[in-house]
Amino acid sequence: MLRQYELVDKVLAYDPEADEALINRAYVYATKMHGSQLRHSGDPYFSHPIEVAGILTDLRLDAATIITGLLHDTIEDTDATPEDISSVFGQEIADLVDGVTKLSQLEWDSEDAKQAENFRKFLLAMSNDIRVLLVKLADRLHNMRTLHHHPKEIKRRRIAQETLDIYAPLAGRMGMHEFREELEDLSFQVINPEARAAVEKRLEDFRSESGDVIDRIRDRIEEIYSGSGLNVEVQGRQKRPYSIWRKMQRQATSLEQLSDIFAFRVLVSDEPNCYQALGILHRRWPSVPGRFKDYISTPKNNGYRSIHTTIVGPEQRRVEIQIRTRDMHEVAEHGIAAHWIYKDADAKTPGQTYADTFGWLRQLVEMLEHGGSAEEFLEHSKLQLFSDQVFCFTPKGRLINLPRGATALDFAYAVHTKIGDTCVGCKINGPHMPLRTPLQNGDEVEIIRSDAQSPLPIWESYVATGKARSAIRRALRHTQLEEFELLGRQMVRSLFEAAGKHAEDQILERALGGLGYKQLSDLFTAVGEGINSAHEVYEQVFPGEAKGKSWKKAKTKKLKNDDPLNAKPLVRLREGVRGHAIRFAKETFPLPGDRIVGILTPGEGVVVYPISSALLEPFDNEPDRWVDVTWDIQDQDADTFVTRFSVRASNEVGALGAIATLIADYEGNINNMTLAQRDIDFYDIELDIDVRDSKHANRIVNALNGLTVVNAVIRI
Ligand code: MN
Repeated sequence: MLRQYELVDKVLAYDPEADEALINRAYVYATKMHGSQLRHSGDPYFSHPIEVAGILTDLRLDAATIITGLLHDTIEDTDATPEDISSVFGQEIADLVDGVTKLSQLEWDSEDAKQAENFRKFLLAMSNDIRVLLVKLADRLHNMRTLHHHPKEIKRRRIAQETLDIYAPLAGRMGMHEFREELEDLSFQVINPEARAAVEKRLEDFRSESGDVIDRIRDRIEEIYSGSGLNVEVQGRQKRPYSIWRKMQRQATSLEQLSDIFAFRVLVSDEPNCYQALGILHRRWPSVPGRFKDYISTPKNNGYRSIHTTIVGPEQRRVEIQIRTRDMHEVAEHGIAAHWIYKDADAKTPGQTYADTFGWLRQLVEMLEHGGSAEEFLEHSKLQLFSDQVFCFTPKGRLINLPRGATALDFAYAVHTKIGDTCVGCKINGPHMPLRTPLQNGDEVEIIRSDAQSPLPIWESYVATGKARSAIRRALRHTQLEEFELLGRQMVRSLFEAAGKHAEDQILERALGGLGYKQLSDLFTAVGEGINSAHEVYEQVFPGEAKGKSWKKAKTKKLKNDDPLNAKPLVRLREGVRGHAIRFAKETFPLPGDRIVGILTPGEGVVVYPISSALLEPFDNEPDRWVDVTWDIQDQDADTFVTRFSVRASNEVGALGAIATLIADYEGNINNMTLAQRDIDFYDIELDIDVRDSKHANRIVNALNGLTVVNAVIRI
């Protein structure tokens, strides 16, 4: 375990102006907060954050990141709160620690390999401060190094698989190849120890057969550069067992090829030297055709630069060689975490080097925060690719990837078309939210469904994805036809009953030929849609008999209702549906602007309810009776509608007067007032008020809530 002064010295070695006192304080804080907690290894828990901080110093990261490494488990595993961290270490560090905590709390199902790529994107998108990810990767690396202490094999395997699926490729994406290789190899040991042992065995055999081949070849390559005037360093190393094994899998090769096992590097001082070194190498040994790649003139997306070539080299062995400058090498090993070294290689004054040292990080963070121009800065990075996406979760942790701007309703359709079609509401991170709410990265979305639900026309305006839109259209057309048929059947039946006849199918079929339909369902649909009238059907079935019958009267009588408003002039059924009585449900007081829905009752017509009405519950299991209705107000300003408020007011002098005055000020007209209950300190009043629409009503509710004498107001 790194001692306090060792850690501080490591930071000061590359960042002489780092806040030494703050690092010391974080070190002490972490040891104190984790106290007597132990790791599976039996070590004190605080050894873990200290090692994580140590790994981060290897990447030469700024003091804030090192301190975050020290504190990264305090919120999750100790009594510390983000507020505590903020007050002791400042907001920047508190935000970083909070970010790492959030990433650590993400759970995902490692069985679902298809989601690994999504998850990597998600982590990138989540971490608008890239330092959060660097700490998380260092955390994972240390946990992998100590994973063998974990007592449960199933847990060890799960963690290793997650590392292999998520964190190792994530490190690779950020160009941190050293991290990536170590993470992969540690996972490989847990997941497939037999394969790893087999690779190790083969490597051992190979070494005993060919002796110290790596040193011999390195010496031979070094020789050719002596006298060239180039400042050259040649490195040879054995590849990691996991990458050898993967290559064997991919190419079904054995371990015969030296170039599959060892990699050699020629490190030089500057870019022109790279090409000189390449020339010298190719003059001495023949190159293998098709193996030359120049990533210096054309860098990889993650900023990697190097020349790759394979030669038939010393001892007639194929040798893979990478030629690069020392700065390029730093980037190749540490990726995004090394950019500052790379960038500042030519800075002459120590001050300037220092000022720019962490500039790239700050710049990156700033640009990610402000969006847009991150692209310029990150032209070599893939990070900006995900700014047009949001990543959300189901309550069970399934990741759903949507375009930015997608809503909860899109989410429902992305999970499954049937879930979209039947959704009635949603919860986002807990509270109920409207289905049209745009989603943010990391939102957990729970869709609430009802089998009675079917897509509403307004939904089309809620969604951003093509999948949701086309599903809604398809479902609408389908239910529309079904409803037209049902409506038509009902209209015909009502009319026949009014005339004292039974509308049996056998009898109604007589109308088919005359009206040009092949089956009754088509006929009913036509009546429902208004193409034919029920009257026409009657005339077809009983020719001549219709004369003299007073349809209107019969209908009016039959469909008379005693509700506050006959809804006919105010709302309409879906386009094309007519000839059907519509009325409002009793005591529900819907207003224009409220979402409403109709329930078809045979023999009675359509009864309109506010969508939120509890009275709708009995119809939940009768989807066939639900019909869409919309407000159809001709003259918005002319009509007023009655609505009912329930007000709980303080029992004090002048309270009622204040309420009445306010309502009048807001152009509401009090129709009726009922004192529902009176207590020592409050009373409940029911007010029937004339208003223009739901907005008007809501304005009054809000204003009433602002009165000190009012405790609560709700619209019934
Ligand atoms: Mn940790």
